[in-house]
Amino acid sequence: MYPPSIEKLIHHFSKFPTIGPRTATRFAFYCLNAPEKEIKELMSALQEVRNSLSFCKICFRSIAKEKEFCSVCANRGRERDVICVVEKEADLLAIEKTNEYNGIYFILGGTISPLKKEDFKKIRAKELKERIENHKDHGLPKIKEVIIATNQNTEGEATANYVSRILTSLNIKHTRLGRGLPTGGELEYADEDTLTHSLKGRK
Ligand SMILES: [Zn+2]
Repeated sequence: MYPPSIEKLIHHFSKFPTIGPRTATRFAFYCLNAPEKEIKELMSALQEVRNSLSFCKICFRSIAKEKEFCSVCANRGRERDVICVVEKEADLLAIEKTNEYNGIYFILGGTISPLKKEDFKKIRAKELKERIENHKDHGLPKIKEVIIATNQNTEGEATANYVSRILTSLNIKHTRLGRGLPTGGELEYADEDTLTHSLKGRK
């Protein structure tokens, strides 16, 4: 429908979370018509984010390349025997904002769709297993509890079930957030009181 170079750009934008083909097309045409300077800045920002950041060795949060651990994992005051498994960094930040949680995290980096079995390759399932099995190798204490804090929607549920099976196979005590997040069940958009309630009501 469009020249190949535009189709290619639409294809790339379509991969972004929550972006459908229509919005992707609008983005592509925006890029085509935007001032040269703006596009150059966008390209260098993309490169910079890839080149200057890396992941925390414990929880996979994004950190400055020269660091090894994120501020949560580096904090000796945190309970290192409780791990909260979240889908993405924004969910970690939402939980941090409640000031109710004092453990550490693990970021899965995605979700599993119940219809696409191969999706499990898209989350850090292998890394989570390693994380749990080698917890002590990092000088961390024996794991007391893993809280599965995925979103309360179809993908979040499928992901939680998958993680739960891994933890059961490793004989690790795990809990799920209590019900009650607003429609859509997304942690990222829940207010602090609701999220606190959900954390306290875990089972
Ligand atoms: Zn970390």
